[in-house]
Amino acid sequence: YFVNNFDEGRILRGVEIIEYFLLFFVTALLVFYACNYIDKSNLVIQNLTETAMTDSLTNLPNMRFFTQQFAWIFNKSQKRKKALSLFIIDIDHFKEINDFHGHQAGNTVLAQFSSILKNRTFPPRTMFARIGGEEFAVLLQNVGTEQAALIADFLRDEIERAKFPYNPVSGNVTVSIGVASMGYNYRTTESLFEAADQALYQAKQNGRNQIAIHQEESE
Ligand code: GH3
Ligand code: MG
Ligand code: MG
Repeated sequence: YFVNNFDEGRILRGVEIIEYFLLFFVTALLVFYACNYIDKSNLVIQNLTETAMTDSLTNLPNMRFFTQQFAWIFNKSQKRKKALSLFIIDIDHFKEINDFHGHQAGNTVLAQFSSILKNRTFPPRTMFARIGGEEFAVLLQNVGTEQAALIADFLRDEIERAKFPYNPVSGNVTVSIGVASMGYNYRTTESLFEAADQALYQAKQNGRNQIAIHQEESE
């Protein structure tokens, strides 16, 4: 069509055809390579973003990802007046595993603990992350205090019964869990996190391998 209708019917001849062919060919090639480059760059960016948000030892989301998601989910739950519960889990006497079996053994336990967390069933839209050395956070949407306490204790029990290749010298691998649910007093992510952290401290104080629920003081 182009060749025949170019300039009111003038037909391209001889070398002109080659010129136009080359022009289109080179342009197409450039567009192809540009698209290819953009495509590859997008993949690299996607991979980098994922890597920046993932903990390399456990393949769980890391603290950076957790902080972002937590803020978003917290605001959403607050607006919609939906329940939201947070666990902070800490492995008991983890240092003993490192000290007696070596750092690599500690890593193995962390990886196994993480795969238990990943493979067990939580309520829909539950999010978890490794937030520190042997500390993990679980954020449960549409879950209130009572249900959260049940789930936390199930998880604690599951870990106590699981077989790990290395144990602390003082006994089996166990966890302590601090539980806090969004209520009247927790207006910010920080206050909810702080509440779960205080509950965790309480669980440790009470003798470990247990859960503790942060009780909201009435205003
Ligand atoms: P508690 O019951 O009070 O929680 O005692 P704990 O020994 O678990 O806690 P503590 O905070 O004393 O020790 C945590 C240890 O976790 C110390 C640190 O060396 C180790 N740790 C942190 N990150 C890693 C990791 O990625 N791999 C290994 N193997 N160890 C880690
Ligand atoms: Mg700790
Ligand atoms: Mg610990």
